[in-house]
Amino acid sequence: MTETIETKTKIIVSACLAGIKCRFDGTSKPCQKVIELVKKGEAIPVCPEELGGLKTPREEAEQRNGKVFTKSGKDLTKEFETGANAMLKIAKENNCTKAILKSKSPSCGCGKVFDGTFGGKLAKGDGIAAKLLKDNKITVVTEDEI
Ligand code: SF4
Repeated sequence: MTETIETKTKIIVSACLAGIKCRFDGTSKPCQKVIELVKKGEAIPVCPEELGGLKTPREEAEQRNGKVFTKSGKDLTKEFETGANAMLKIAKENNCTKAILKSKSPSCGCGKVFDGTFGGKLAKGDGIAAKLLKDNKITVVTEDEI
């Protein structure tokens, strides 16, 4: 009898979309399709901000000029970059070629992110983790596109 080898690639997903309470305010943003993928073992939930060493809950942060600052002005760029690199490592270890990431987030946003004014306005751009995954040939979509 020939053994079946599992070749199906996994999808890396924002942990908050999988229902994990890792957002800055201690909540999640559950997306049923992402939850199903995780339940079936087809997706791996990851929160780059927590992987960067940030606690939950934490102060809200947004991107400004390619860096990340909290509302009170603390520079968290290093933590966000550390988390993005950790997310990429997990994606590579699991041969992920696709990611479903939370829209608008300074880490996970894809195409549009909050503009750094903390007023709910958006600017063109990618989150720090989303950009790193894209630069490494991983296709990134948001929960709004699945
Ligand atoms: S960093 Fe990404 S996974 Fe973590 S809470 Fe923010 S959007 Fe969700």
